[in-house]
Amino acid sequence: MKKHNFSAGPCILPQTVFQEASKAVLNFNGIDLSILEISHRSKEFIAVMEEAQALALELLGLEGKGYKALFLQGGASMQFLNVAYNLLENKAAYLNTGTWAAKALKEAKFFGEVTEVASSADANFNYIPKGYVVPEDADYFHCTSNNTIFGTQMKSFPETAVPMVADMSSDIFSRSIDFSKFSLIYAGAQKNMGPAGTVLVVIKEDILGKVSRPIPSMIDYRQHISKESMFNTPPVFSVYVSMLTMRWLKTLGGIKTIEEHNNRKAEIIYNEIDRNPLFKGFAEKEDRSVMNATFNLTDEGLKPVFDEMAKEAGLNGINGHRSVGGYRASMYNAMETESVQVLADVMRELENKA
Ligand SMILES: *Cc1c(COP(=O)(O)O)cnc(C)c1O
Repeated sequence: MKKHNFSAGPCILPQTVFQEASKAVLNFNGIDLSILEISHRSKEFIAVMEEAQALALELLGLEGKGYKALFLQGGASMQFLNVAYNLLENKAAYLNTGTWAAKALKEAKFFGEVTEVASSADANFNYIPKGYVVPEDADYFHCTSNNTIFGTQMKSFPETAVPMVADMSSDIFSRSIDFSKFSLIYAGAQKNMGPAGTVLVVIKEDILGKVSRPIPSMIDYRQHISKESMFNTPPVFSVYVSMLTMRWLKTLGGIKTIEEHNNRKAEIIYNEIDRNPLFKGFAEKEDRSVMNATFNLTDEGLKPVFDEMAKEAGLNGINGHRSVGGYRASMYNAMETESVQVLADVMRELENKA
């Protein structure tokens, strides 16, 4: 029996996507060739890339609004660097909400002055800072919409006079946001979109071309845009599987539908965390992530018992990140409500047993 997979990333994808992708490895679209052996310049693969780009913009409600979607390599981590390389002329503003946000900030420092507008480091990143001011002379403002490790999520975004850039790796396509507030969005595929190997970058074209430094081709967004995300061989399988996941999401009803589903799952787990005296949530309630729920045992001595019960129930990947400890239940789009209910039931059983 398939396990209930709460892994933070790489992580769960729809079962139907796994099935279709595995068929395509043997015989893609009935052409008697594998998706892995055809040219990325073949009409079959170009159709995949075009559909992936169109679906990304459509799901985000950004078609016809001056945005381009790219599928690049190097993961979200490469974008920490690329964003600054392409956009930072004098000064950039960063919101520090945890490990990934801090890594993005660190890379930007190679290219200019970086202002940290606020940080929640004082409480091990268990909340999202509010009421900060984004300087109007910054080239852009960068934030991390969902903090995968700490289980916090930005519920609102500031009104900024400067372009807003967001790392949405772990909550892309999971909730309705006015995405047109952002000038650049990036997301490593392996959290909510596809297998590892590609990163989605959605850029408003008019923010490019404003820095004076020369930009090497592979880093220059304009190069990738002019080559329709085919400047070099793209990660064909990751793009293909991401496209299948986006198709799945569209058929389901898009972001609005999945958002309701995701909220239901989060409610089940957080209700149990708050009800059960053996557990306490890590993140401040108002900033709790709908994607990654972080929680600890009130009595660490119960860990071996709980871990054994979780294993028995087929729960996979619930151990917390080393910087938080405890547990983390990642409940990405493809996770069924039933799996979350199984986890909540095991937590309740522990209470009955202890
Ligand atoms: C996982 C993650 C990253 C790192 O992604 P890579 O593709 O491994 O570079 C960056 N940001 C966030 C928010 C993440 O969850």
